[in-house]
Amino acid sequence: MNAIYWYDSLHDTKYEKRIIRPFCSPACANRYRETSDVNDYPQRRPLPKGPEWQIITDINGLDYETD
Ligand SMILES: [Zn+2]
Repeated sequence: MNAIYWYDSLHDTKYEKRIIRPFCSPACANRYRETSDVNDYPQRRPLPKGPEWQIITDINGLDYETD
């Protein structure tokens, strides 16, 4: 899958670990935010540091965990 849109648990506190969830389009990514409860969780501020929490700009070829 050549995904360029994804949910990233870096941004909210629902998940304690890094979760990447790829989507085919911005519409699907937005629908996920609207139909799941991820937006109900506070944002991570400050952003966590460490190898698991690097900023991701391309998930192709990345070894990631999804749910
Ligand atoms: Zn889709």
